[in-house]
Amino acid sequence: MKSNHLRNHALSAAAVLSVCGTPGCVSESSSVSPLRTGLMSEHPNAAQVETDQALKALAFRGPTQALPDLTDLQRIAVEHAIVATTKDLVSFHSTKDKPDQLKAVIDYVESRFQGTAFVVQRFEKEGVHSVVISRSDSMNFSNVFLGHLDVVEHLDEEMFDLKREGDKLVGRGASDMKGACATMLELFLNNQDDSRLDNAALIFTTDEEVGGFRGLASLIKDHNLRADMVFNPDGAYSFFPSISEKGILHLRLTAQGVGAHGSRPWQGRNAIELLMSDVQRVKGLYEFATEAHPQVISFNLGKVSGGEATNSVPASAVAQIDIRFPPDMTAAEIRSRIAGALENSFLEVLVEGDPVGIDATDEALLDYLEALKTNGVDPVLMHEQGSSDARWFTEQGASIILTKVDGSSAHVDHEYATVSGLVKLYEILDDFLTLVQDNTPKSRS
Ligand SMILES: [Zn+2]
Repeated sequence: MKSNHLRNHALSAAAVLSVCGTPGCVSESSSVSPLRTGLMSEHPNAAQVETDQALKALAFRGPTQALPDLTDLQRIAVEHAIVATTKDLVSFHSTKDKPDQLKAVIDYVESRFQGTAFVVQRFEKEGVHSVVISRSDSMNFSNVFLGHLDVVEHLDEEMFDLKREGDKLVGRGASDMKGACATMLELFLNNQDDSRLDNAALIFTTDEEVGGFRGLASLIKDHNLRADMVFNPDGAYSFFPSISEKGILHLRLTAQGVGAHGSRPWQGRNAIELLMSDVQRVKGLYEFATEAHPQVISFNLGKVSGGEATNSVPASAVAQIDIRFPPDMTAAEIRSRIAGALENSFLEVLVEGDPVGIDATDEALLDYLEALKTNGVDPVLMHEQGSSDARWFTEQGASIILTKVDGSSAHVDHEYATVSGLVKLYEILDDFLTLVQDNTPKSRS
């Protein structure tokens, strides 16, 4: 996996960023389960060549291991526990403006592990709480199971009271991603004495929706959190792994002109027009993403300001641009190419975040694919447009496996996860734990 040494620049408190894997696009919705359709391989974001490559590598490893299934009684107990824990987690109104709830939801997780064989490490940075649950007080793990327990706001208070509608669990965070967190929590609790968890950690943070700077980024940078493999069910596609997630570059262009009265424009220099010509220069630098080709670098002119009145020549103007880029590009190269093209304005970086990428034949990815196949899911590798906290692990070269529970998209009004999908995720992870435990350790520093 590629490690491109990007860093965050000049993050002002105002640079709040919602980075959940939510492109807000119906084609990204995973409400159509891969279990019920083969259509996902036709999806514009399906990584078809890489899927073939991975499946060939998997076949080359030999016959899939015989892994024990849950008994019917175990499956009923697991379902009951996952539903109850999801309901508990959803009941916390854990949005970014409610720090007491962000703390309370982590307190709840800690309470669930009290009296168990696990060590619970609590962290807090500027009001953001995180928890690391593992067998020791180490921060250096083979396998990390990562989730966030913050959610985006929902105006309907009822959505914080999880309802069951047939197979659906409806509530804020059910899909993004308290259902998945409940599933991973139960997996850990049910395997307290299991050697498969000897060098594993369950990690929950509470600021993913605003960029993860005080949660996961702090665990990595301030507390030296390291992992060989990170499983993060915060992606866009049910069960299917995403092999790429774009990096982020938020830029501000500022053009300075010369003010004058609107009746004598020749006495000034119009900053808005100067800015717009630079914006056009930036747009000419790349073949930016379209609906037909969503996987390449994308461009959005998100905010423009300038000018005082109709009858004055504007002296300054500002544009903010949101660029997302695939793992084969770096923020540094994009930044310098844009800076080189500007004629009238200067460039500032507001936000910079790593892309996520995993090789189609990565050992841990193949283990995950095998676990999917064992549980009746024919895997397709995917590309994603959004981004998640997993990107903080890119720099250390961890194998990042991004996926999602079966359910609605994130951040939607009628957010849900299916009960059958959560139980299936549990069974997939139970097998994945067996397969991934003997992987070659990476040299973590
Ligand atoms: Zn999320």
